[in-house]
Amino acid sequence: MARPARKFAPRSGEAERVQAIFERFAAALPEPKGELEYRNDFTLLVAVVLSAQATDAGVNKATRALFEIADTPQKMLDLGEAGLIEKIKTIGLYRNKAKNVIALSKSLLRDHGGKVPQSREALEALPGVGRKTANVVLNIAFGEETIAVDTHVFRVSNRIPLAPGRTPAEVEAGLLRIVPKPFLRHAHHWLILHGRYTCKALAPACPRCVIQDFCRWEGKRLAPPLHSSPAKRGRGTARQRGGGGSGLSG
Ligand code: SF4
Repeated sequence: MARPARKFAPRSGEAERVQAIFERFAAALPEPKGELEYRNDFTLLVAVVLSAQATDAGVNKATRALFEIADTPQKMLDLGEAGLIEKIKTIGLYRNKAKNVIALSKSLLRDHGGKVPQSREALEALPGVGRKTANVVLNIAFGEETIAVDTHVFRVSNRIPLAPGRTPAEVEAGLLRIVPKPFLRHAHHWLILHGRYTCKALAPACPRCVIQDFCRWEGKRLAPPLHSSPAKRGRGTARQRGGGGSGLSG
């Protein structure tokens, strides 16, 4: 039997804290963008399907050549499953993903006039498309205020915390409830980028985090004390930085 959802009792002043967190994100990066490369709604959908359990950088590497020759459902069918496999075989689970991309291309041509539908139900009915993929497409292609919960959003939402939950669905519902309306459109991009480059799983870069003063995670690492030696400070900072850069760091 499913356990009941964990209750999260917001503290007083919580709405102001959440507002302030998103104001900081917006000030640091007013127009956040996803990092998957695409040319149109169809290639966006394909890129998101291919990105499951793969990095955006790895997907982009493969899709640059793929989308040169197959940027519509018909061209994808013309390429065929074997041709598609050749193009995406560097991406994890490529055989299954190729099957899904060919099947969803057929479905788009048969049921939607070759266009990507602007409806959650229709998107989720496509092969290989789940709630997270539908949320990304609805947000980026159609400007809807959806929040796709990936591993980064799930981690930072539980860690800061913003909207704690045991499952992506719980976190998504919580975020939709608490994120102030003006920030809903970009919320998932800010949270993904924050998790990918600053609030990383193993080495969060707390000293350069723009929301450090609003973070309530017990494990957050504060800046090294001023009296520590420069050599020690340098080592600590390098470990915490851990590579990557983001417009969401201070
Ligand atoms: S202070 Fe550290 S743990 Fe908290 S949100 Fe920033 S990077 Fe993440």
